Amino acid sequence: MNRPTPSPALLIIYTGGTIGMLENPETGALESFDWEQLRRHVPELKRFGYRIDVESFDPPIDSSDMTPCDWQRIVRLIEAGYDRYDGFVVLHGTDTMAYTASALSFMLENLDKPVIFTGSQLPIGQLRTDGKENLLTAIEIAAARDDDGRPMVPEVCIFFESQLMRGNRTTKINAEGFNAFRSYNYPALAHAGIHIRYDRHLIRRPDPARRFKPHYLLDTNVIILTLFPGIRREYVEQVLRFKGLKGLILKTYGAGNAPQQPWLVDRLAALRRQGVVLVNITQCSLGTVEMRRYGTGLQLLQAGVINGYDSTLESMVTKLMFLLGHGYDMPTVERLMNTSVAGEITTDGPTAGFFGTTH
Ligand code: ASP
Repeated sequence: MNRPTPSPALLIIYTGGTIGMLENPETGALESFDWEQLRRHVPELKRFGYRIDVESFDPPIDSSDMTPCDWQRIVRLIEAGYDRYDGFVVLHGTDTMAYTASALSFMLENLDKPVIFTGSQLPIGQLRTDGKENLLTAIEIAAARDDDGRPMVPEVCIFFESQLMRGNRTTKINAEGFNAFRSYNYPALAHAGIHIRYDRHLIRRPDPARRFKPHYLLDTNVIILTLFPGIRREYVEQVLRFKGLKGLILKTYGAGNAPQQPWLVDRLAALRRQGVVLVNITQCSLGTVEMRRYGTGLQLLQAGVINGYDSTLESMVTKLMFLLGHGYDMPTVERLMNTSVAGEITTDGPTAGFFGTTH
């Protein structure tokens, strides 16, 4: 006889964002309101029959104000509730949601419960809001189990409009439409229509032999350099003068190409000799870096720039902060940057759900 499964217990972490904002009548600008006000707009929450608790940022914040300290706060809340809850829903502003979701995908090692981010483009108090659908479906996904009673999606994800996407593959692409996020280089993990259809073979599973392990160490000594035709040497020199620099993300053209200017390539090679990790990602949304394809890419490879494959910017920045934060030596950081540790890049090489850390 099947034993009845207890109804799921979920924790909502409300950080802020448009979903919980109200128009200030004096200025017309949107400002945050608290969870109680937000909850009153979603009476449907009671109909789930789940135990739903809430932890709220006080005050809730616009996600443009999110910092790595806030990522650590969210991880702390998840760690504190890990044994009590079956899944987590994080309500977050859309502007930097992809950064937070990417960071958490690295900080929550061997996660075996769903952590589903969502938010909205219109406040939940407005008639045409997309917030209600997003919140209710995110809750349903966080509570979903497979036939063996295991969480359906034990990953950090973003659910928005009708798609469930891996958090570290996702980017905000739309400041206007409801369909605000895309995962260009990895298919959606689920589609929500009349039914929520999960693509199980795309979903990562934790290593059952290992325990969940939260991480808090991050190092923000990283910068992003976006190339553009006419980029001036003085500008690059100024940017690279940053004291304490440990990681540089180069946003290159196409398949990972840069102008063939000896001053640029020599400067990069010198940086690498000084111990700065250099990573190449493309300005294109779709596709991957292949530095051997053109001379303009090969020169970067020869200067010691490593391949960022098909990474999003959000994932690359947060992964670099995460790895540098752990104080690994340069070869280890470079090796792990070229390894898929949380499903964030597509490489030919091995994937590792393992950070190789004792921290
Ligand atoms: N500025 C808002 C935020 O990111 C935008 C949103 O939530 O859609 O917090």
